[in-house]
Amino acid sequence: MSERTRVVLKSGKDQSLRRYHPWVFSGAIKKIHGPAREGELIDLYDNKDEFLASGHYQNGSIAVRVISFEPVETDQLFWDQKVANAWKLRETLGLTGNLQTNVFRWINAEGDGMPGLIVDYYGGAAVIQMHSIGMFRNLEAIVESMKKAAGDQLHTIYNKSESTLPDKPGITGKSGFLMGEQERGEVLENGYRFLINWVEGQKTGFFIDQRENRKLVGDYSAGRKVLNMFGYTGGFSIYGMGGGANLVHSVDSSGKAIDLSRENAELNFPGDERHAAFAVDAFGYFKDMKEAYDLIILDPPAFAKHQNVLSNALQGYKRLNQRAFEAIAPGGIIFTFSCSQAVSRENFRKSVFVAAANARRKVRILHQLSQPPDHPVSIYHLEGEYLKGLVMEVE
Ligand code: SAH
Repeated sequence: MSERTRVVLKSGKDQSLRRYHPWVFSGAIKKIHGPAREGELIDLYDNKDEFLASGHYQNGSIAVRVISFEPVETDQLFWDQKVANAWKLRETLGLTGNLQTNVFRWINAEGDGMPGLIVDYYGGAAVIQMHSIGMFRNLEAIVESMKKAAGDQLHTIYNKSESTLPDKPGITGKSGFLMGEQERGEVLENGYRFLINWVEGQKTGFFIDQRENRKLVGDYSAGRKVLNMFGYTGGFSIYGMGGGANLVHSVDSSGKAIDLSRENAELNFPGDERHAAFAVDAFGYFKDMKEAYDLIILDPPAFAKHQNVLSNALQGYKRLNQRAFEAIAPGGIIFTFSCSQAVSRENFRKSVFVAAANARRKVRILHQLSQPPDHPVSIYHLEGEYLKGLVMEVE
């Protein structure tokens, strides 16, 4: 074995690692033998000196993110294999070389065995978001591997980690182009066109995780009046229009998002007057609402970023869903989502149930939704299943 720093865990704290959970919390560490530099690859041992895993060290609540449960060197070949495997899965899913959809998640952190690394693919442009210093230290090799795996299907690589990497001394250059310099582009999702600005947009530019759920909205839209709350790029709205809705209203508190939804509606349905977009707060919109919608989509930002604000978040979901239950026309359909990792499927459903009861409506669940397969979840790391949705019919 190498001369790497050895991190020894307290007795009993090896259990989750033996079940292949990829995180070690700082409180689990008994002793560190050697220098523990930010982002460095270290080896984990139990207190009987048995090797457990290798991972990236970082000062913080999650102290180690496991990269391998076998002894490894993270050389170029190591990253080549990991990145190529991730690409291969998207090939298996029919997402690469697809003429209808050329936007997908290429690397989904723990779900692809690469904790701390997100890569989204926009028709030839890859956008990287790193959450760990360990990934930052390996960026050059990862970029090399990406070029090898995607070949001529890649023309741009943009690193967008300014807001996702923690502030650490000596860590600079968190964002910038690593290949090409294209800042925006047009992509296809299920045949619909979307303008993406990965430099300026939210997250990596688009909420790719709603692809299949957007399609389902299209299936329910014929003849309906659709309200797309928290619409951002207008993704759900475009599918609603394509599905034959009578009218579609996009609401978002961000003016930029509303402009985007208008642009995308115009791109797909030029001159179509069924779409209107409003830059207002969701709760304010519900209060002054005049239209009797019969399809409402609620896709708010994560209400709970941490476990300690969980009860506030559940309260937020309850209030929001109650407004929708109170407002929706009889026979209406509600699509409601939570993308908070800290909120379990069970808790989310409970909040929506209380909302329905408070509004005194008869409600049936038609679908229970999740994230698509290019956002895979490691069976050992169920925290990776963050997107939860319900489709309900309201009598
Ligand atoms: N449904 C979108 C993604 C939504 S992201 C899609 O399919 O792509 C959440 C959006 O909610 C953001 O665009 C943000 O600007 C908006 N938002 C946040 N708080 C809001 C509020 N109080 N009222 C309305 N919109 C809000």
